[in-house]
Amino acid sequence: MELTRTTLRALRKALDSKEISAPELASEYLGRIGEQDGKLLSYITVTKDKAMRDAENAQKIIDSGKATALTGIPLAVKDNICIDGVRTTCASKMLENFIPPYNATVIEKLNAEGYVLLGRTSMDEFAMGGSNQTSAFAKTKNPYDLTRVPGGSSGGSAAAVSASLAPAALGSDTGGSIRQPSSFCGVTGIKPTYGRVSRYGLVAFASSLDQIGPICNDARDCAILLNAICGHDRHDATSARVDTPDFTEKLGQPVKGMRIAMPKEFFSDDIDGEVRTAVENAAKELEKQGAVLVQCSMPGLKYAIPAYYLIACAEAASNLSRFDGIKYGFRGEGRTFEELIRDSRSRGFGEEVKRRILLGNYALSSGYYDAYYKKALALKQEIIKEYNDIFELADVILTPTAPTPAYKIGAQDNDPVKMYMADICTVTVNIAKLPGISTTCGYTADGGLPIGMSIIGKRFDEQTILQCADAYEQGFKPVAPTL
Ligand code: GLN
Repeated sequence: MELTRTTLRALRKALDSKEISAPELASEYLGRIGEQDGKLLSYITVTKDKAMRDAENAQKIIDSGKATALTGIPLAVKDNICIDGVRTTCASKMLENFIPPYNATVIEKLNAEGYVLLGRTSMDEFAMGGSNQTSAFAKTKNPYDLTRVPGGSSGGSAAAVSASLAPAALGSDTGGSIRQPSSFCGVTGIKPTYGRVSRYGLVAFASSLDQIGPICNDARDCAILLNAICGHDRHDATSARVDTPDFTEKLGQPVKGMRIAMPKEFFSDDIDGEVRTAVENAAKELEKQGAVLVQCSMPGLKYAIPAYYLIACAEAASNLSRFDGIKYGFRGEGRTFEELIRDSRSRGFGEEVKRRILLGNYALSSGYYDAYYKKALALKQEIIKEYNDIFELADVILTPTAPTPAYKIGAQDNDPVKMYMADICTVTVNIAKLPGISTTCGYTADGGLPIGMSIIGKRFDEQTILQCADAYEQGFKPVAPTL
């Protein structure tokens, strides 16, 4: 079967009509991974035997006529989502041999549908980064240009979908980690509203910002995968008690009358000219379809990076204190308790993770708490207010996903602040707990690199951003990479 950029809908049809069996489909994807992932490094672990077992079981469900949307569908899962019995490393030496004894809630839900696990995708260590180059095990490359980064931190998931080494994947997004790699790799990724999808079993980076979401070939597939993983969960106290609609419901509906805001700060000179033009052209396209463009302003965007990095690092410093070399994870050496912990953490964590732990503990320490952390919380309230004001005027907000297309591997290695600034378009969405989707809106003239745009919605209004992304995608022809 032709698998290049094949949608979940097409695979469903092929499985239901018995054009292909679940085990055949799984082995076709495993074959592609075997042939091509040596160049791309999108997977840390390929779960070949489990995939074949999952597929045999799925085939029985299909044969009994009880298949649901994802029965027999192969998927890849970012390596920070716990799967019972399957190594889950967070791309860190600290968890190199960690085998969780339980499933994340999203995995329980996928199991209930009879999905097939292809493997665990690479990421920035503990999801801290935007390039996948901080992975301790697989520094993933961009399928459109192997000398460039795939984005991060869900870069393995985005690259795998882009190169058709999985038809869809799960990622996680704390400050853009689903949307930015989707944009760099020319695929579609949605960060749901905070609380829409359970975080139970997601290894925590910054608990008030983290959210699991789908990375797929298009918005329609994102809706299908989101349907499967969302919902209230009593294991996660921050999971929302809200109704879960059918996210495919508004797909295909016209955007006539939809008000699309474009805050001018997202289109400043700090954004690459080609990116700006591509997003503006996409806006014109939606306008032609009857949407109404609304000009507006978001002055608080200039505080977004400091606010995000203070909050994210503070929470990370607390969350990562559990990795002490004693309870689980990498164990260093030392005669005393303190020496053991120091050695375990010094050797178990990479540079970027250590930098964030230091920044976070500094911001939280007495004497500095008021000057940094408390100010960041005040900025968070300001950003939320500005979003609320914009949503008085508009139904969705359109922005670039990242200031540039995928950059060269190594380009930002020695300049963490430059790397942090590259998150300017995505982090406020997490701070305000909003849903956001990134889809491709063009390719660079020189090099054919994908350019992504983001559509941001009101809290729990994933349906409208999916509708808007879908309306655009239906007229836009994606270009698949050739490895
Ligand atoms: N690039 C951002 C960071 O480094 C976002 C990471 C994420 O969303 N997990 O923190």
